[in-house]
Amino acid sequence: MTEGLVTVSYLGAIILFILALGGLSNQETARRGNLYGIIGMALALLATIWGAVDGNYGLLLGGLAAGAAIGFLLARRVQMTQMPELVAILHSLVGLAAVLVGLSTFLDPSHAEHLTGAEQSIHLVEIYLGVLIGAVTFSGSIIAFCKLSGKLSGKPLTLPARHWLNLVLLILAILLGALFVKQGADGGGLTPLLLMTVIALLFGIHMVLAIGGADMPVVVSMLNSYSGWAAAATGFMLGNDLLIVVGALVGSSGAILSHIMCKAMNRKFFSVIAGGFGNGGGKSVSTATGEAGEVIAISPAETASLLSSAKEVMIIPGYGMAVAQAQHTVNEVVKHLRGKGINVRFGIHPVAGRMPGHMNVLLAEAKVPYDIVFEMDEINADFPKIDVSVVIGANDIVNPSAQEDADSPIAGMPVLEVWKGKTTIVLKRGMAAGYAGVDNPLFYKDNTRMLFGDARETLDAVLKELG
Ligand code: NDP
Repeated sequence: MTEGLVTVSYLGAIILFILALGGLSNQETARRGNLYGIIGMALALLATIWGAVDGNYGLLLGGLAAGAAIGFLLARRVQMTQMPELVAILHSLVGLAAVLVGLSTFLDPSHAEHLTGAEQSIHLVEIYLGVLIGAVTFSGSIIAFCKLSGKLSGKPLTLPARHWLNLVLLILAILLGALFVKQGADGGGLTPLLLMTVIALLFGIHMVLAIGGADMPVVVSMLNSYSGWAAAATGFMLGNDLLIVVGALVGSSGAILSHIMCKAMNRKFFSVIAGGFGNGGGKSVSTATGEAGEVIAISPAETASLLSSAKEVMIIPGYGMAVAQAQHTVNEVVKHLRGKGINVRFGIHPVAGRMPGHMNVLLAEAKVPYDIVFEMDEINADFPKIDVSVVIGANDIVNPSAQEDADSPIAGMPVLEVWKGKTTIVLKRGMAAGYAGVDNPLFYKDNTRMLFGDARETLDAVLKELG
């Protein structure tokens, strides 16, 4: 393949990746977006294998086959509830790749033999930054994986003087960088590079450990962004334009997503990164609102009758719907109610579930019509007109203490104001707290009814009652 053909293929892949991002921004075009991404990636791989690589084909194809087999098995086996963890662990691989490419580029001087003066310094800075971002992404993503999969507690680790610790690590990384560029010009520099790698790994661990509970969505999108910048840095090291552009696309879209998540939680990006919030003390409801701790249970038959006599129904799905895999039954219930002329809508909180867009993916899978699925901002003012709100396995995103209790770990986070409707039915298995570990006064309100049990089983029972 000629160099011109590789360039044209890369350009084609870049255009396809941009179309993929555009497509993924909307549920109706998401499938098409995915397809563009797949074709773009296939084109990029083919152009790289046939055009950019000039040896070691056995190793390359062996690596590709092993990676494809692992990816295929993971994709087949992973449950929908494990997707966020899978995404986190995949980010860690991008970080690891950046570290390994950086170290190997440095250890194999043939890449940069012709470089002198400023060009050489720039190349060394590229390597240093690539390894730095890669190491932070790698260790941070592993901790995020452990937190999301419940292997580590979601509570923030707040070491004393942690901001000073971060500052010291940052200053050390800068000083080691200067030393690396100086020594690298004379053929040395391995020691500062390795020392910085250890520091960056520690920084990644400390940074994500310090971020707690409800702030995790920002961590996931932030690590997504870092993995993009790590890929872009790898592109600079390898002189690969495609990798630079794709890395920048992922890096900036992850940064935009982090901004959207912060807005959704009414949090400032830097306070999330600084960590120590969302420590979910699990305060008792009485201290939060002064309300009594009595809950009113409801049966599937009573639920069915309330729903049948409603005119306006709002469904609020949360993480529990993903756990119960209840989306298909939800769709059946919705079809039934709409068949009776009841106006049913879905209200989606931006951080519902365990990854951005989690609920939209589930509802799309169950073929819920897109035009009845609304963002929080679009429907939050409508609750006073709602006859029955059905909260399916959601907790933090409908917690009134975010508005009523200034000391709550989720204070200030915008929530779906279900309690303003006539009746709220909450489907969950028991009285367990949500991800942020905070009690929820909604469950004790006069107009709330608790339908206890696994959401799919209880919804199946409701469906039977609806006839
Ligand atoms: P929550 O984690 O607050 O609550 C989920 C509820 O579902 C639990 O209280 C649980 O109660 C219930 N549940 C679990 N399994 C079932 C089941 N089989 N049937 C019925 N109910 C079930 O979820 P939300 O969606 O309300 O809020 C998301 C939280 O996750 C927020 O705090 C958010 O910040 C955080 N987060 C979000 C991410 C994102 O990107 N969206 C990423 C990381 C964290 P019980 O056990 O009693 O049944």
